[in-house]
Amino acid sequence: MKIKRLDIIGFKSFVDKVSLDFQHGITGVVGPNGCGKSNIVDAIRWVMGEQNARHLRGRAMEDIIFGGSESRKPHGMAQVSIVFDNSAKICPPAYKDYAEIMVTRRLYRNGDSEYLINKTACRLLDITELFMDTGVGARAYSIIEQGKVGMLISAKPEERRSLIEEAAGVTKFKARKKTALRK
Ligand code: ATP
Ligand code: MG
Repeated sequence: MKIKRLDIIGFKSFVDKVSLDFQHGITGVVGPNGCGKSNIVDAIRWVMGEQNARHLRGRAMEDIIFGGSESRKPHGMAQVSIVFDNSAKICPPAYKDYAEIMVTRRLYRNGDSEYLINKTACRLLDITELFMDTGVGARAYSIIEQGKVGMLISAKPEERRSLIEEAAGVTKFKARKKTALRK
């Protein structure tokens, strides 16, 4: 799964709409300290369903909504959309006819939130399942943050195994088995 585009509005320091196009090859983001480089990674993680504000370097989820500056008022809503190229058809069969898959997440200051796949409202579970076994996801190995390599080296065998299971594509089946056994 390759990211084609990221649209950000009202998320952290991105007050106005910003569209980032990811071309073929490697994309590098450079800029002075505090300009918003890590906020881009937070936006990717958030749109893919991250539920823990601390993993987005905040205390509460509301902290991801633009909080205002000297010249701008705070925003009432944050929205991030991520567009994936689906030509390799790695996604679940339900999405195989789509050349692109767009996932959107919105959060309002009153706590209301919305998730959409290709502009149709869906559940968080649909987004989690969409990414399961693709290596992409809020906590998957597609995002290697500071300290992750060291963590993997010193991880317990069971922890390292979950990474191999994600790559092998069995995470989805394990999750479904767990749900079935609970019913
Ligand atoms: P470094 O090079 O130091 O890692 P960076 O480019 O990764 O810097 P970020 O951590 O992405 O920088 O951005 C930090 C900036 O984002 C800070 O200026 C902070 O005030 C701003 N910021 C974070 N959350 C919000 C918010 N909710 N509203 C407005 N600005 C925010
Ligand atoms: Mg940073």
